[in-house]
Amino acid sequence: MLLSHEIELKTALLLKEKGLSVTAPRKLILSLLLKEHGPFSAEEIFRRLPKHSCDQATVYRCLNQFVETELVNTSYLEKDMVHFEYNDPDHHHHHIVCRICKKIESFHDCLLDKIENNLIKKGYKDIHHRLEFFGICEKCQQG
Ligand SMILES: [Zn+2]
Ligand SMILES: [Zn+2]
Repeated sequence: MLLSHEIELKTALLLKEKGLSVTAPRKLILSLLLKEHGPFSAEEIFRRLPKHSCDQATVYRCLNQFVETELVNTSYLEKDMVHFEYNDPDHHHHHIVCRICKKIESFHDCLLDKIENNLIKKGYKDIHHRLEFFGICEKCQQG
């Protein structure tokens, strides 16, 4: 777990790297995503921010900027709802969602490197993939 001043430094650095000015809402939202893994919907992010720190429209605007600059990844784990998560270049992972209790778990196995390498050989670059799993968790099977 990173200490809060480390999160603060990392947040400012990441924003600068992406050419975004370091504003209070951007810092709050990005540090939340660095500290707590998510993935979170925009509403969840808004609810987890300190009260009255920024309005919901600002949260949406910041998240869109983060997605455009690839600071943040989106996934579609629930029907019609986007989830956001920090795009950590060192921790590529996928999610499985329980179809009953909606619990989201992440795991790091990914067997898609071979496919990506083949696509690179075909001349593509900046490749990323999206793959989401849905199932029924152990707890819900007992219920
Ligand atoms: Zn479940
Ligand atoms: Zn993968």
